[in-house]
Amino acid sequence: MITLQNIHKYYEVGANKLHVLKGLDMTIEEGELVSIMGSSGSGKSTLLNILGILDDYDTGTYTLNHTPMKNLSQTKAAYYRNQFLGFVFQSFNLLSFKNAMENVALPLYYQKVPRKERNKIALEYLDRVGLKEWAEHSPNEMSGGQKQRVAIARALISKPKVILADEPTGALDTKTSEEVMEIFKEVNHEGITVIIVTHENEVANQTQRVIRLKDGNIINY
Ligand code: ADP
Ligand code: MG
Repeated sequence: MITLQNIHKYYEVGANKLHVLKGLDMTIEEGELVSIMGSSGSGKSTLLNILGILDDYDTGTYTLNHTPMKNLSQTKAAYYRNQFLGFVFQSFNLLSFKNAMENVALPLYYQKVPRKERNKIALEYLDRVGLKEWAEHSPNEMSGGQKQRVAIARALISKPKVILADEPTGALDTKTSEEVMEIFKEVNHEGITVIIVTHENEVANQTQRVIRLKDGNIINY
């Protein structure tokens, strides 16, 4: 599903170049549940943003579903993101002026699905994460765990092949983190590849494989 070969990434910082990813090689098969661990600044988010086609890399090869992801136009990048990928972030990224159902329906709004239909589908996805009763509530009426479940439903609604989650339990307490991990595991059981960046051993322990990053290198692969 995902192959990286000798990926290097630099950030320009003033006149200097910061070498952040130093030749990463990895393969993630379809249907895997993988975590990416490493201390702060080790390059986890940079790696996830590259996998998510949110950022480009400098050299190497990234292949997603047999297609090389390099120098894509904005349109092509958006096409592959919509076709294959769902995103979950630590800070949920929900719209506060939309209710839970409308937040989940948002990707379908961009796909120009009529309101009635997209809201009906959104309700099914809310039900799937156990929040059907909360459809009319706005995010600021919900707990952190509930907000993250809404965000997961929103990621699932466009039927991604891969879910990319950057510290999805970073803002949650232990019990709520477990609920969110249960949902990721269910989603993975249904065949979706799940890649979770995390600091927490409790989270990584629940994945099938841990990829460890240290100073821009994979150290245990
Ligand atoms: P992690 O998610 O593991 O904490 P990041 O991928 O966010 O690490 O960052 C890796 C390194 O790259 C850090 O030294 C960080 O300061 C630097 N960095 C991240 N994003 C940028 C950017 N947009 N511009 C310059 N440096 C960046
Ligand atoms: Mg990060």
